[in-house]
Amino acid sequence: MTGGLKNRGKSKADVDERRMAVEEYAATKLPHIGSYSFDPLLAEKNVENMIGCLQVPLGFAGPLAVKGDHAKGEFLVPMATTEGALLASVNRGCSAITAAGGANVVIIKDEMTRAPVFRTKGVRDGQRVAKWVDDNYDVVKRTAEATTSHGKLLSIKPFASGRSLFLRFSYDTGDAMGMNMATIATEAASRLIEKETGAVLISVSGNMCIDKKPAAIDSILGRGKLVLADVTVPRAVVEERLKTTVAKAVETNYRKNLVGSALASSLGFNAHVANIIAAVYLATGQDPAQVAEASMAMTNCEDADGDLYVSVRLPCLELGTVGGGTRLPCQKEALSMIDCVGAGKVKRLAEIVAALALAGELSTLAAQSAGELGKAHQSLGR
Ligand code: NAP
Repeated sequence: MTGGLKNRGKSKADVDERRMAVEEYAATKLPHIGSYSFDPLLAEKNVENMIGCLQVPLGFAGPLAVKGDHAKGEFLVPMATTEGALLASVNRGCSAITAAGGANVVIIKDEMTRAPVFRTKGVRDGQRVAKWVDDNYDVVKRTAEATTSHGKLLSIKPFASGRSLFLRFSYDTGDAMGMNMATIATEAASRLIEKETGAVLISVSGNMCIDKKPAAIDSILGRGKLVLADVTVPRAVVEERLKTTVAKAVETNYRKNLVGSALASSLGFNAHVANIIAAVYLATGQDPAQVAEASMAMTNCEDADGDLYVSVRLPCLELGTVGGGTRLPCQKEALSMIDCVGAGKVKRLAEIVAALALAGELSTLAAQSAGELGKAHQSLGR
């Protein structure tokens, strides 16, 4: 077994040998995990100690009509999940949105952040360091950008508390989600700041970034893509397809997503945006841990002259169409279903994902306002 774990090889034979060692150690058989279709060398930047692949059921929701600036048209959106009833529900939301003429989607901010923490000598010294960074922004920017051909530094915002100074770096990361890119660039810039100011770099990630944790700063300022989506669903579609009324949907949203979430001190004011994001992130090779930030969405519902206005604000869609898990064959195929493979496609992907989240919210609100949530899970999920 020790030999198996020490084996850092990435070939199919290395993977097989390692899996057999695990089978022997755990006294089990892993035939499904061992059955996969691609060369493991393709995953060498995605996993260590590879022993095979996990198969997660994949389906689609749609056609979903999207009226974005980058995604225009109807899409069959890939979703991977083990939660029965999820795709049926999102699919119903897609049908209502498409019948209503499509979801409007706008990306209003696009920045990936990394915030190193430095130890200074105290509050006055911290301000001296922050001023040096401000005065020398151009050289700091050049140092950060020398590490990447796509990343562009957009701003550095200082936050201080006692002897801790946080510098929140924001980047345009092109078509990549950008977390590796921003980390590498920020580390280079931080070393310069350390050398020039005497402040001591404690960690390149000081949690004011803040990655893979829900936090108000990301919810307010945004991280990755900050996206808004809305639709006005005609009353007849609400009643016939969604089997509820405008008044019931509006009241359910108010009491559940707004009052209930506020009373619970939730950072997410929505029904289940994390469900949709998790399924589409898994399908398209995004980092699933970033569902933590993506869950902080706000859903609004209003009676619009008898029709149902629904919107969703997604402050943290951290996704890419190059890099990370998007280079893997299954994930690339899933991205190809919505023409989102590679360079120039990330904003299109963000808009489709936002419209899909809106579909999920719409359908679940309708189901809950009609008292159908338990029934759907009973018949489809058990
Ligand atoms: P990455 O795969 O590490 O880097 C993206 C690569 O794509 C870069 O080498 C970039 O080159 C290149 N690239 C080519 N065409 C591009 C284009 N059109 N736009 C942008 N880049 C282009 O991916 P990443 O997005 O920076 O990081 C995502 C990975 O980070 C995921 O695997 C995720 O799980 C992981 N992650 C890391 C951390 C961390 O702290 N390091 C935290 C969370 C997640 P250039 O840079 O030379 O331009």
